[in-house]
Amino acid sequence: MPSEILSFESLKLTRQFLNAIDDLGYSEPTLIQQKAIPLALSGHDVLGIAQTGTGKTAAFMLPILMKLKFPQGDSPRALVLAPTRELVMQIEENAKSLAKYTDLRVVSLYGGLGPKQQIELIEAGVDVIISTPRRFLDIYKKQAFRTKEIKTMVLDEADKMMDMGFMPQIKSILEVIPVKRQNFLFSATMPTKVIRLTEDFLEYPEKVEVTPQKVTVDAIEQQLFEVPNFRTKLNLLEHLLDDDELNRVIIFVKTKSNADNIGKYLDRKELGPVRIIHANKGQNSRINAVSDFKEGEVRVLVSTDITARGMDISMVSHVVNFDLPLIYEDYVHRIGRTGRAKNTGVAITFANEVEMMHIPKIEALIRQPIPRLSIPSEVSIEETPFEEKQLMAREIDLIKRKENPDFKGAFHEKKRKFDNQKKKSSKNRRRKGRGR
Ligand code: AMP
Repeated sequence: MPSEILSFESLKLTRQFLNAIDDLGYSEPTLIQQKAIPLALSGHDVLGIAQTGTGKTAAFMLPILMKLKFPQGDSPRALVLAPTRELVMQIEENAKSLAKYTDLRVVSLYGGLGPKQQIELIEAGVDVIISTPRRFLDIYKKQAFRTKEIKTMVLDEADKMMDMGFMPQIKSILEVIPVKRQNFLFSATMPTKVIRLTEDFLEYPEKVEVTPQKVTVDAIEQQLFEVPNFRTKLNLLEHLLDDDELNRVIIFVKTKSNADNIGKYLDRKELGPVRIIHANKGQNSRINAVSDFKEGEVRVLVSTDITARGMDISMVSHVVNFDLPLIYEDYVHRIGRTGRAKNTGVAITFANEVEMMHIPKIEALIRQPIPRLSIPSEVSIEETPFEEKQLMAREIDLIKRKENPDFKGAFHEKKRKFDNQKKKSSKNRRRKGRGR
């Protein structure tokens, strides 16, 4: 792992991509992105050993889009081949989100429906084609596009392509596209067939590898509580900390102020000793907090992700995700602090309605479901305050709009209704006032 976490800015991406990355909510590049993007931008062929969930799509798509810059001519200049229709559609969605502030034209081709519409799209001009191998050849044979401008090519999930018997199609495609080009090959595993393919396909490749994250979460008991609001999360936390079995606990929160508030609350309730670590606490205070925690003098550490990342805190009995991490991979980093060296650990996650919408993505990353538990009956469930409700409604709208740009937004709907109601009641008040 690079000793320092690189930012997207330091990867030399231009503003239009940094803005798109911002909109997608990615705050830092994933490991495969940190490793592959600089190599790809400097022109190397890249062999990436990584599975879905590591951010591999953006790892090859960002350099491709960066290099293409703007639309040019009508013929495709980059080709991404993937084994299945679902994967092609996923890559297309990611590519279009990353290219949203450019005019680059991305078209995807896959079977299961007639080629007419796909041909029309291509004929209108295209910069990047994302396709299954068979459909690419079908449409090429109909002379819908020329291949001589293709200067970058990606084989994604190469192991799956070999398993599905796509080698003959890939060979035919390599015969019709220019020999001088930059190549990327991504594969989760490296069986002999894929090694042979890399020898034919890649030229002096740089190899980048990320180990699957699943290994680290296997030994850990995971629990998920759907909790409606902040106040109820506090009640549940208090209830859980009444159990002495939670003897060395890290509570992860998303903001510094949440860390302060929760830490102080637990201190008042005498559920500590508690220490708080976040970026505004001096280096010494953070180091002391961690060493006291390690020595068993501190029962509870409340921390944000940024501070916890660089610190060696393990052998924790329980991790509590009071807030869900913004970067899904951080879920794995967080809970990996428990369950080490034969100590079985427990990772407990609280998620409100908005956070629950992110849970399937985390489950896809760790490739297992997180068991749901009901809030114990002793815990009192609080009403969600108006402001918190509004904030959540706004976030839900944002997520839905990201998934479907045509989505108009329930929040605005509700707000309009609310405004209308306000207008009506003030009219009534005025009317009543006049009547008096
Ligand atoms: P992939 O491995 O490319 O299928 O990506 C898995 C998921 O991670 C997708 O939902 C991506 O949108 C998301 N993702 C990719 N890069 C990042 C990042 N730097 N930070 C947070 N999420 C990311």
